[in-house]
Amino acid sequence: MRHERERAEVVRYGLEMERRGLTSGTSGNVSLRVEEGVLITPSSIPYPLVAPADIVLMDLDGTVLQGERAASVEHKVHLACYRARPEVRGVVHSHPVVATAFAAARVPLPSFLDELGVYAGAEVRVAGYALSGTDELAANVAAALGEDSSAVLIASHGLVTVGRDLAAAMRVAELVERGALTYLCAKALGGPAEIPESSRELFRQVFAYYRTKPD
Ligand SMILES: [Zn+2]
Repeated sequence: MRHERERAEVVRYGLEMERRGLTSGTSGNVSLRVEEGVLITPSSIPYPLVAPADIVLMDLDGTVLQGERAASVEHKVHLACYRARPEVRGVVHSHPVVATAFAAARVPLPSFLDELGVYAGAEVRVAGYALSGTDELAANVAAALGEDSSAVLIASHGLVTVGRDLAAAMRVAELVERGALTYLCAKALGGPAEIPESSRELFRQVFAYYRTKPD
């Protein structure tokens, strides 16, 4: 079996996503870029039961290269992120409660905290609504991601985060979830204050550096 170490990593991050409360049951999915395409978690298997052999290897067009299991229904969203952003090596799709509430209300999350500017980028935009598993949804997510963000809310559904590895994509998912909750609290206190433009410019530079930083 090819990519044993990478398969184990995808399994581990699937478990990690559930352990951190970013999803539950079989929802969400995790993928990692490899030479031939991506390794992605299978559909409909609870994370604690996913074995390395269950991870599906597919090329960037969605052709399964290795794997008996059905790939996650959202594989097109993952593939669209990898095609749109060549530097991305890890994608996490999760259903965290507060960020998903923003997705349900279709309210974008601004970069109102320094750490969001550094790690999540300019803004967490909401991708236009389309049905799960469709090419349209994949295109909407890639368009909303753009070049200046590492997180997108999927309308009426959940969250997608990307990174130069799975650790980075998972960190952004956690930051966006915590950020979404903090944003609601700050709103109750009168709303978050503006971050000075000089700081925002610095965060843009740091974000760009992290985005493309080689291993
Ligand atoms: Zn989902």
